[in-house]
Amino acid sequence: MPDRPATVRTIADLRAAILPWRARGDSVALVPTMGALHAGHVALIDRARTEARRTVVSIFVNPIQFGDARDLETYPRDEAADRAMLTAAGADLLFAPDAGEVYPRGFATRVAVDGLSRGLCGDARPGHFEGVATVVAKLFNMVRPDCAVFGEKDYQQLLVIRRLAADLDTAVRVIGHPTVREDDGLAMSSRNRRLSPDERRVAPRLYSELAGAAAAIAAGAPARAALDAARAALVAAGFGPIDYLELRDGETLACPVAPGRPARIFAAAHLGVTRLIDNVRVR
Ligand code: AMP
Repeated sequence: MPDRPATVRTIADLRAAILPWRARGDSVALVPTMGALHAGHVALIDRARTEARRTVVSIFVNPIQFGDARDLETYPRDEAADRAMLTAAGADLLFAPDAGEVYPRGFATRVAVDGLSRGLCGDARPGHFEGVATVVAKLFNMVRPDCAVFGEKDYQQLLVIRRLAADLDTAVRVIGHPTVREDDGLAMSSRNRRLSPDERRVAPRLYSELAGAAAAIAAGAPARAALDAARAALVAAGFGPIDYLELRDGETLACPVAPGRPARIFAAAHLGVTRLIDNVRVR
């Protein structure tokens, strides 16, 4: 087993590992993940390494952000493979606590980000963003990084975390990194491992339909017609149910989008037992 990056599992060991870096004046970046790492995560680590002298990667499958016990149970976990990827990616430290370290007996605090947590995945997965905001606020306090890198793949989550970082005076610079895709356009995701070969062939349609609708809207087509066409095409391709497929403001998530404002299309759709999400910029 490679001995780099060092792995720590307790908050005390995490702080002990970071202390000498801080004493030397090294800056620290954090990349929070749930493991089952892929090239999308590696891109965030590469980005982190350009933003700070030291990169801490956390792997923690956060139980309080899962509404569905079966989804939590079956979430892919492979720490040995993850460690090999972290070695190759040049991460400095892996923080991989267990649930008891993060949520000790008596834990009673929740962080709720109003507004941005509503709608889209907030409606489809009640309590999800409260779970995410709570664990990210804790990770920011544990690591005290200068910056943290998050993927645009989970765009609503990125906006929620930007808000949380500002509202709680964390002084953490939140960096969003573009979605990394397979050659056929499918957004990389740990959950893609659950797709059957047939589903894997269909899955890239989510991106191609969103991209097609975005291009149509950017060219002046009415949004309603473009979104309806994309939805119908996904259903015909075998997706279902579709949790949402919506055009929203790219900064506030407001809907409808005011003229001239940045806009994105957001979608979540089920393919067999797998729920896929994606989003694309319109303008
Ligand atoms: P997860 O392990 O799925 O919780 O994701 C950890 C971080 O990686 C989050 O900031 C995600 O947005 C980001 N991420 C996941 N998939 C991708 C991707 N395909 N491209 C860019 N970032 C990603």
